[in-house]
Amino acid sequence: MSRPITATINTAALKKNLSIVRNIAPRSHIWAVIKANAYGHGIERVWKSLSNTDGFALLDIHEALLLREQGWQKPILLLEGFFHSDDLNILHQYHLTTIVHSHWQIQALKKAYLPSPLDIYLKINCGMNRLGFQPSEIHKIWHQLKELRSVGKLTLMTHFAEAECTQEVIEYMKKFSQTSKNLNGNISVANSAAILWHPQTHFDWVRPGIILYGASPSKHWKDIEDSGLVPVMTLNSKIIAIQNLVSGSSVGYSHYYRASHMQYIGIVACGYADGYPHHAPTGTPVMVEGIVTQTIGAISMDMIAVDLTRCPQARIGSSVELWGENIKINDVASISGTIGYELMCALSSRVPVKIK
Ligand SMILES: *Cc1c(COP(=O)(O)O)cnc(C)c1O
Repeated sequence: MSRPITATINTAALKKNLSIVRNIAPRSHIWAVIKANAYGHGIERVWKSLSNTDGFALLDIHEALLLREQGWQKPILLLEGFFHSDDLNILHQYHLTTIVHSHWQIQALKKAYLPSPLDIYLKINCGMNRLGFQPSEIHKIWHQLKELRSVGKLTLMTHFAEAECTQEVIEYMKKFSQTSKNLNGNISVANSAAILWHPQTHFDWVRPGIILYGASPSKHWKDIEDSGLVPVMTLNSKIIAIQNLVSGSSVGYSHYYRASHMQYIGIVACGYADGYPHHAPTGTPVMVEGIVTQTIGAISMDMIAVDLTRCPQARIGSSVELWGENIKINDVASISGTIGYELMCALSSRVPVKIK
């Protein structure tokens, strides 16, 4: 028998989550965001279940080519744009839409000789200050791009720094609408949080990422618990040993946890080398045989200890859910001082993945 840890990808949940996005933003086209290998779920595993989308958005040209090789013919958007002027020929060859965020990219487009034009997303920096042009530059750049024979359809886009925050969304949208006035093109601004909580940001194309995978863009699952979204990834393992701690004895490295009374505990085959957060403190929720209990002591590279006081029936071989449909990844993340996004992306390549 192999080590009992497995991640299961629920394809029905992916389809459901995409259809929920359609219902929330019925007049918008959808870029399903599958960067970072589909947030750790595996592009090859998930893209067909999401193929009801209008396009896929990602970062890496190799990921884009993989999608093309697998047969996806509809739009693909490169969210960080191209990284070198030589990339433009590949973008043309594979019909990739690209973001343009820096002046050197405009120069590269000016110099490029392409058999047919590329569709471009012009990125406005409304205050995130990572990628994009200042609002004051946009009119000039828009008209400059319009003149270039290598530029086809132009779309205006921006990205929120904190889309949960209503005040910020109002400010960004004010800047955005002033900037986009009299520019005649499609608009794309909404990520997951904006899709859920700010319908005035939906416009022509929405860009959902985390909600397609069934987690909250905020820190808390409760913020989306009534949305119908279903967690896509479940991380399961089993108990591989049982210990009875006597009062005062400890478990795991550094003796972080000491039993204050006789305590029945289980050792689970899962650790930070599988992608479980090393920072998870004693008290992180975990499910054993359908009962919610908690971790105790330090998270090791390959093992976790769990309290079995509430599950006296647990034995070697008992099933454990680390996160998934019952133990929400948002809850494991927030108690560990991180976010659901990071835990999904950090699923380790040594964890076997099953498709359901
Ligand atoms: C990652 C990303 C998204 C998706 O963000 P979520 O919060 O996962 O919905 C949307 N737009 C851009 C530009 C991104 O980089």
